Amino acid sequence: MNILDKMHEAIQPPFDPARALYEAERCLECGQTGSPAPCTVACPAGIDVPGFIKNIRLGHLPQAQDIVFAENPLAGTCARVCPTPVLCEGACVLNHIGLRPVAVGRLQRVAADYSFPSPGTPAQRPFLRLAEVAVIGAGPSGLACARALSEQGIAVTVYDGAQSAGGLVRTAIAPYRQPEGSLESEVRRLEAMGVRFEFNRQLTAREDFRRLEDRYTAIFLGVGLGPDKAVTIPGHHLAGVWAALPFIERAKSGGWMPRAEHLVVIGAGNTAIDVAREGIRLDIPEVTILYRRTPDKMRAYPFEVREAVHEGVRFQWQVEVQEIIGTWRVTGVRCRRAGIEGDARLELPADLVVSAIGQQARSELSQLVDGLTWDGNQLIVDPASGQTGNRQYYAAGDLIGGTTVVEAVRGAKLAAQAMAQSVRRNAG
Ligand SMILES: Cc1cc2nc3c(=O)[nH]c(=O)nc-3n(C[C@H](O)[C@H](O)[C@H](O)COP(=O)(O)OP(=O)(O)OC[C@H]3O[C@@H](n4cnc5c(N)ncnc54)[C@H](O)[C@@H]3O)c2cc1C
Repeated sequence: MNILDKMHEAIQPPFDPARALYEAERCLECGQTGSPAPCTVACPAGIDVPGFIKNIRLGHLPQAQDIVFAENPLAGTCARVCPTPVLCEGACVLNHIGLRPVAVGRLQRVAADYSFPSPGTPAQRPFLRLAEVAVIGAGPSGLACARALSEQGIAVTVYDGAQSAGGLVRTAIAPYRQPEGSLESEVRRLEAMGVRFEFNRQLTAREDFRRLEDRYTAIFLGVGLGPDKAVTIPGHHLAGVWAALPFIERAKSGGWMPRAEHLVVIGAGNTAIDVAREGIRLDIPEVTILYRRTPDKMRAYPFEVREAVHEGVRFQWQVEVQEIIGTWRVTGVRCRRAGIEGDARLELPADLVVSAIGQQARSELSQLVDGLTWDGNQLIVDPASGQTGNRQYYAAGDLIGGTTVVEAVRGAKLAAQAMAQSVRRNAG
């Protein structure tokens, strides 16, 4: 297997039909009208999990597919990237009787992938042309908002500074999580519904926003977060020091990747885990994550940490990197160990250092749109409607504190509902 194949090797390969049937038959099909199954309650998008699994069991794949896409326009993507152990699979009743939960994510992938590309569902009602809305950002939140508005017969134009749709799903979510991704087909479905996309349209000036405000009744902000936070410790400029997002984007594009013997990853969120696991797939013999706090403080999911350890990633806790050392290229990191008596210094060899300490906030929006309010880095919205401090604007996704694709979908659906109501009021 060459390095590229290895990097894209799935951690969750697709089910073959026999395995899918076996797995579907394990589902107890809990829940009834008015009392949804725990897995459905745990799904932020609200997918009728027992419903689609039953259809797989009966061999009705088109119906299973309709069910998963009814609630989530990114159902195929989510089937691959959702943290299912803490969502649907974590809620599966089989856990309570000591059995393995139903593999909901992999079954959802069976349903979502069935006979793609499909033509998609055309909008049922004619567009209310007087009632157009703008969506800024074609990431998961923007796509989900556009779909939900289109379904209500409202004309939607999506603006994005990138060349194509997907946001972080396209550029950041690690390749080993989504080999043969389904994003393209999901975007085609939206196009088939009449959603208009304007790419290479980065909105950066106050005037850009004014023009949209004059033209559209309601505007959705799905712009996510900014680039990686900058590392400012001495030595950050050395060759061999990377930020997490360009590192993963490079891995995804299949471009040249640095060779290394010792990869050190700074940070302990899910992005740090992704970088480390990519490092393992690059055949780097020693991959170490350094985190300045104790394990209970880390933001990565425990199941992800277990999987990373299983793959060979090492962790050093309570270690703060103070300097990246080297002459023109990195040769090591100098650290301080917190909570240790005596000599707390530590030096580790490293020929590749990747910082994964989070993304920058979108604070520039305050200069571009009036009336937005913030809680630290997070845009404040009304949780029921996604409406911001500026009543013309709505938001969801990472911009309002989300951390997963499916959360972005959930928030965007709520916002779309409220936007449609506002648009109809204005039109009518
Ligand atoms: C490394 C990494 C790994 C991840 N892994 C997972 C995972 O395994 N599972 C999971 O569920 N989630 C994962 N996530 C999180 C997930 O990707 C995000 O929660 C999700 O993409 C947020 O969607 P969004 O629409 O809010 O923003 P984004 O995906 O960031 O999309 C924002 C879009 O807005 C556009 N935009 C921004 N500003 C402007 C502007 N001014 N004008 C025009 N366009 C603009 C951008 O080009 C982009 O397309 C991961 C994130 C990272 C960083």
